[in-house]
Amino acid sequence: MIESEQINVTKVFLPKQKEYQEILKRAWDNSWMTNRGELVKELEHKITSTYQTVPVIATTNGTLPLQIAIKALDLTGEIITTPFSYVATTSSIVWEGLTPVFVDIDVDTFTIDPKKIEEKISDKTSAILATHVFGNPCHVEAIEKIAKKHDLKVIYDAAHSFGVRYKGTSMFNYGDVSTCSFHATKIFHTAEGGAVFTNDKRLFNKLFYHHNFGHDGPEQFQGIGINAKMSEIQAAMGLAVWPYLEAIFNRRKLLFELYQELLDSRLRFQSIREHTTYNYSYIPVVFENEAQLLNIQKVLNAHKVYPRRYFYPSLNKLPYLDNQPMPVSEGISKCILCLPLYYELKENQVETISCLINKNLN
Ligand SMILES: *Cc1c(COP(=O)(O)O)cnc(C)c1O
Repeated sequence: MIESEQINVTKVFLPKQKEYQEILKRAWDNSWMTNRGELVKELEHKITSTYQTVPVIATTNGTLPLQIAIKALDLTGEIITTPFSYVATTSSIVWEGLTPVFVDIDVDTFTIDPKKIEEKISDKTSAILATHVFGNPCHVEAIEKIAKKHDLKVIYDAAHSFGVRYKGTSMFNYGDVSTCSFHATKIFHTAEGGAVFTNDKRLFNKLFYHHNFGHDGPEQFQGIGINAKMSEIQAAMGLAVWPYLEAIFNRRKLLFELYQELLDSRLRFQSIREHTTYNYSYIPVVFENEAQLLNIQKVLNAHKVYPRRYFYPSLNKLPYLDNQPMPVSEGISKCILCLPLYYELKENQVETISCLINKNLN
């Protein structure tokens, strides 16, 4: 390969520095760096109006909103969750002093398998916390039905779901609470950042107080809180990235489809749920076995291509948990690789990567 530059699984999208500075200037002019300045409010408004979402609070990352949601919903005991997600989904439950009870995933969609949820519900279960894996919507109808029947709350970790619609509505509108991440590696970013969404007014107020120390005005407190506020500096990055979003989605779709067209048919892709407008946030491929994956990873690394084993390991294997065997999630974790996918990636780089993979499959 003639490539000299290193190709990682992702590369942060950066607007022109001048564009970022122009927006930052507003924060300077206001002498206002944080505590819900006009840039944070403008970003929140752009999100709710562009994607027709329920009310949102911008936060400083995508993990605190999970923790705040668990608090605000007064959850106790056990939370049913997925072993196939980023560690933050599980660690938030443990951090809040609750017990994650894993339910294995569907082999095709990689999201929590609703058929296996009910057998894990006990009298200690208070909620279901599921991830829309790689932006692929969970089986939201089945989950809602189970939650209603057993009087459970539903939180969606929608960290990957920016821009995704299911049955015509934003993923952020599902569940009692949805959260998102605007980390630099995500499809839309504010360097570090995130958001929490809910349509329940009382719950919204609780989340709002929780994200700002419990403050209700300078001298009053509405219960306990923590600091999860987004700063103006972060919001400015979001506002600078915003005008490029359509171009980012389109570019990723093109590259995603090129991979699908070029890669050997022995490799398996995630099945995206019907009625989904997808955001092409990742291109995960499932190899036939782990040895095959490890060999391809070695070949690619030798050509300065660094895909990522994601999600690996399966979260039931975390050292601070009792291991609950999750055969489907563990099997997929061992065989899944996310290939490079980002705005600046070139078609010929996708071709080279695909060709290297196909030639070295054994
Ligand atoms: C990125 C991510 C998070 C955490 O978001 P941060 O903004 O990095 O705190 C949580 N859940 C999932 C599924 C993620 O991919």
